Amino acid sequence: MNENFTISDFMRRFPDNDACLEKIKLDRFGEQSICAKCRKESRFYKVAGRTAYACQFCGNHIYPLAGTIFDKTTTPLTSWFYAIYLMAQTRAGISAKQLERELGVTYKTAWRMFNQIRKLMADDNDLLNGDVEVDEAYFHPNPQKRSSAQAHKSEAVFGMVERGGRARVKHVKSTGVRVLQPTIAKNVAPTARVYSDEHGSYRTLNRRGFKH
Ligand SMILES: [Zn+2]
Repeated sequence: MNENFTISDFMRRFPDNDACLEKIKLDRFGEQSICAKCRKESRFYKVAGRTAYACQFCGNHIYPLAGTIFDKTTTPLTSWFYAIYLMAQTRAGISAKQLERELGVTYKTAWRMFNQIRKLMADDNDLLNGDVEVDEAYFHPNPQKRSSAQAHKSEAVFGMVERGGRARVKHVKSTGVRVLQPTIAKNVAPTARVYSDEHGSYRTLNRRGFKH
């Protein structure tokens, strides 16, 4: 959603659950897609009273919500969409407590939605994911003079590597927990499994939701 998408745009675009479901269906299956049963390029039509669409030829059902964060939820899709809208539009970040108030749901529900949407948005931002190895190192401009005084002048670098995938290297001010953990949070998806050495800065990574 772009930044000029106002709340009234949002209300017009997604006035009810069916409009939200249609958007999810379009994102996942497009206007037309190949039916898994009859193998024809088909338009799928909404099945009344259900979150399913049926093939125009053979009636085979597809379920746009299956495998998404909206699957089996008792919270209306409009509330989910409104929560996503709020979290995407609020630059400073909205809290689960604010979601509770805005959506009129329990705190428990707001917290669960908050976390699922956060993960969803992290995936979107193309963060490193899967098995990610992290390591800190000091780079010495002149390796011949490795006195302790010079170690302070040397630059700390921090590497994050997806197994079999992408890598990121960042210059960091230090290798302290207050530097490394936010760097990981900014670059690695919360769904990733993080591998590191025993360096103390990684010890509490699980508190940030990472499998470590
Ligand atoms: Zn079909």
